[in-house]
Amino acid sequence: MAKILIIEDESDIRELISFNLEMSGYEVATAADGEEGLEKASRGGVDLIILDIMLPGIDGYQVCKYLKKDIETRDIPVLMLTARAEDDDVVYGLETGADDYMTKPFSPRVLIARIQSALRKSQADFGGKKSTPITLHNLMIDASRHLTLLDGDPVDLSATEFSILRFLAENPGWVFSRNQIIDSVKGEDYPVTARSVDVQILGIRRKLGDSGSIIETVRGIGYRMKGE
Ligand code: CA
Repeated sequence: MAKILIIEDESDIRELISFNLEMSGYEVATAADGEEGLEKASRGGVDLIILDIMLPGIDGYQVCKYLKKDIETRDIPVLMLTARAEDDDVVYGLETGADDYMTKPFSPRVLIARIQSALRKSQADFGGKKSTPITLHNLMIDASRHLTLLDGDPVDLSATEFSILRFLAENPGWVFSRNQIIDSVKGEDYPVTARSVDVQILGIRRKLGDSGSIIETVRGIGYRMKGE
């Protein structure tokens, strides 16, 4: 059972999240400010942190920086909660090392889904060698070896292309907006913008040749990996 630490000063939000996480079978720890949160995170055993930005004392951005600097806590995925949907806040949050963010108010169901996805991703990154390659259509994507095979032949993808392909392949049939795709890769070899997602997708499709059509464009929304 994964343990989730909630760092949030507003008690009703803290309780709402705790309640929903416990209902979904997670173990929960809570902290009402950044210092208490850092202290609890450093005790170990935490698998994911939900971090509010607006906190008394040290704010969520600072907390995130500390978490990502400390070798004990830097691999714990951080999901930031922001009351503001300003792009700058989101970008700044991601720059401080947050793995994902959610804008308040949010639906508990969506929050749980994002937590599950963040935990899956961290287990894949963290477990490295343990992560199981994805096989889908005629593709085999092995994250631990950073290898993509198409009908058994290696495909030469850039780091960003690889991350996007892997992200889509992990969720076949699901449509993602360009921003969700950006969030999932955070520009590994150069800054990814909404427009450059299109360029990356184009590149991936070209390299997949006849199989390029497994990545479908969903007009007005974004992209999805065709389900099998
Ligand atoms: Ca707050």
